[in-house]
Amino acid sequence: MKKKKRRFFVNERLNPNTTPLNYDLFFEPDFKKLAFKGFEKIKINIKKKTKKITLHSKNLKIKKASVEGLKLKIKNFKKQEVVVLYSNTFLTGVVELEISFEGKTGDLKGLYKSDYLNKGEKEQLLTTQFEAADARSAFPCFDEPAFKATFNLSVLISENLEAISNTEIKKTELKKGKKLVIFNQTPVMPTYLLYLGVGKFEFIESSVNGVKVRVYTTPGKLKLAKLPLEYAKKSLAFFEDYFKIKYQLPKLDLIALPDFPAGAMENWGAITFREASFLCDENTPLANKQNSAMIIAHEISHQWFGDLVTMKWWDDLWLNESFATFASYKAVEKIKPEWKFNLHYLLDVVDQGLTADALISTHPVSVKVKTVGEIEEIFDAISYEKGSSVLRMFEDFMGEEAFRQSLHDYLKTHSYSNATQKHLWLSMKKIAGERGLQFNVKMIEEWVNKPGYPVVKVKKSENGFTLTQNRFTLLQDKKDSWSIPIHYQTVEGEGFITLEKNGFIQTTGSWVKLNLNQAGFYRVFYDSASLEELGVLIKKKFLKPVDAWGVENDLFASVRSGRVKLENYLNFIERFCDNVSYPLTDSILSHLSWLLLMARSKVEKTVTSFSLKTLDSIGWRAAPNEDSVNKLLRSKALTLLGLTGNWRAARLAENLFMKLKQKKKIDSNLKNFAIYIKTWFKGDFSELTLMYENELNPVDKIKFLTALGMFNDRKKLLKALAYSESSKVKHQDSFRIPLTVSSNPTGRKLLWPWVRKNWARLKKRNQPGTHFLGDYVAMLGTLDTYKELKELKKFFKNNDRDDIKRTIKETLERVECNAKFKKLNSLN
Ligand SMILES: [Zn+2]
Repeated sequence: MKKKKRRFFVNERLNPNTTPLNYDLFFEPDFKKLAFKGFEKIKINIKKKTKKITLHSKNLKIKKASVEGLKLKIKNFKKQEVVVLYSNTFLTGVVELEISFEGKTGDLKGLYKSDYLNKGEKEQLLTTQFEAADARSAFPCFDEPAFKATFNLSVLISENLEAISNTEIKKTELKKGKKLVIFNQTPVMPTYLLYLGVGKFEFIESSVNGVKVRVYTTPGKLKLAKLPLEYAKKSLAFFEDYFKIKYQLPKLDLIALPDFPAGAMENWGAITFREASFLCDENTPLANKQNSAMIIAHEISHQWFGDLVTMKWWDDLWLNESFATFASYKAVEKIKPEWKFNLHYLLDVVDQGLTADALISTHPVSVKVKTVGEIEEIFDAISYEKGSSVLRMFEDFMGEEAFRQSLHDYLKTHSYSNATQKHLWLSMKKIAGERGLQFNVKMIEEWVNKPGYPVVKVKKSENGFTLTQNRFTLLQDKKDSWSIPIHYQTVEGEGFITLEKNGFIQTTGSWVKLNLNQAGFYRVFYDSASLEELGVLIKKKFLKPVDAWGVENDLFASVRSGRVKLENYLNFIERFCDNVSYPLTDSILSHLSWLLLMARSKVEKTVTSFSLKTLDSIGWRAAPNEDSVNKLLRSKALTLLGLTGNWRAARLAENLFMKLKQKKKIDSNLKNFAIYIKTWFKGDFSELTLMYENELNPVDKIKFLTALGMFNDRKKLLKALAYSESSKVKHQDSFRIPLTVSSNPTGRKLLWPWVRKNWARLKKRNQPGTHFLGDYVAMLGTLDTYKELKELKKFFKNNDRDDIKRTIKETLERVECNAKFKKLNSLN
């Protein structure tokens, strides 16, 4: 018998019997060397005696480690990102571990530097981004969400700098000619929520329900902080009332950062934001103000969902993100009812969730993850948008108040602890039981743990409609079924059934509308006679705007998946959908924009006439006190019209652009249109780059940058792609020009050769831990031929990486769907 070779095995998951209780954590950053020294005392509880302690540690140099004064042997395991500390004797019970270490600042993760201009001078600040797994690159720690502990943080910095962390400053002392800032102890929390910022900051302050709320910016930007502060105060008050649980810390800081890898991060008591997604004032375009309010609400809801109660492991990341997505729209709907965020939600969340989940390569909302790379990839539309839509479906099923109460129960029961989805179901079951409601855990689990969603087919028969179901995917129907709670409407009124494999709705009328209020996460495919009847009801405005949207949106999905011919869709919207309504018109404009890219010759006429009709109805210019959604529709319709070559749109864009250049005031909601369409018609590369480089307002700056992908000229586009990688563009914004190019009718085919040629550099520059490399892969999803699909498959076979595996699979499938769509509609 052959003897098995003994292998030394180190797991990147830590030993659950050794847990941290408290970290005394000290940092001394060095701005010049972009490095830091640190020292920590971790109080740990060893439940099962052992001679080794394993912690996470990434790119750190561990100088010394001891436990209770006894020196420990140190061994690093780079691949697993852990350090193992060995003792000569057995350790047990509560002991104190001391470690001194050194590290270097990271690239948009861990402790990293951010550059900005202060009165024309270049300055730097240091800040942290630890989610999902980068606390380990700032200090050796138990870097998993279930290892909650308290933190006593202190930092030694120059006297002219400020430091911000999760809690208030306890005291500052002078030490070695520097300033030692000591913070109050944090509540028990996971490592990924710890925050430290060091630099020159300015802030404004207010309070709500006894909580101090501050917005911090780098010098000179405070005038853009007032509106975010208002949004933050209103969100905080909303969530305290909604959850019926007080916010847990005495202060909440919101920090605008010049360099930031994501949109925002919910560090407990010290939320960080990318400037352009956060800073705004009354002159900021409505779409950007809405985005700011929504992101602020999202992060503030995390202070309960995620921070107070944390998922046990990343499998349940969706509990954090689906919930925050769901809750942010609820809060904004309340704060700004005139924005109609309950309808905006359909376009922004439900539609995105349905689109992302229409791939065979999708994953369940709750997904098994093991490695750090896999964790990074699930911060996606399934965890955020699908999960959120599924929660909304359960809310509709249970009723708003019962749903709210079960969230309260869940948060109350698991405060300062960790939970899994099972715990949320238990709370829902308990509250439903108290109210005498039926609650089926199995049914809920099916929506969360199974990939994809159903399409319900509706067929007229004698005395009613027969319903059957399958799994909907863009490539082909798959045999599968769900328990679907279905609200519907017929001439007799509203009704409800739970559809198992198939069913029947009785009615004397000639129509039925399923998925009433679009609360369910499924699609409906009507036979052509039933669809015709619904079209008439849309035209007569008999159907509510949300249901009209549902019919159109499902029809468009049927076109994309080849169930319905493109001509039938165009015919439907021309005959029935020419009355402007929200969100229907917005949705059609988005679909026409996609079609203009994929099927220009067949849709150009419809795009022109639909955009013109919309503009004639809402007006080419803003009217005083107009409905706020008209501002969004106008910009969209004008841009689309411009892309068809319409001279009136082109002239308007040029006029507005000229005024912008002369620093004259224009309707801020038309800035995007003006910059994009002027660039499309007569873009000047140096003029645009100059405007970008000189712009100080972060929101406008991004508009100039993204417009560089809008030239109607291949040479200029190649120049713009090269510029995206230059030192003039912050790393966090490099993806923006290529992203615009990917949906530029002239330029999108340039992107793939460019990515292929520059792949080695892109891969090196965009390391795991940020989503950037995956972004470059996902952009290729607008390609649309079988030839390109073959090339992509071949290329990525040898060029993948752990953190982009899923994105590659999904992108390949998207391209295949596009190619199929073109073939079925004879567009080649
Ligand atoms: Zn979030």
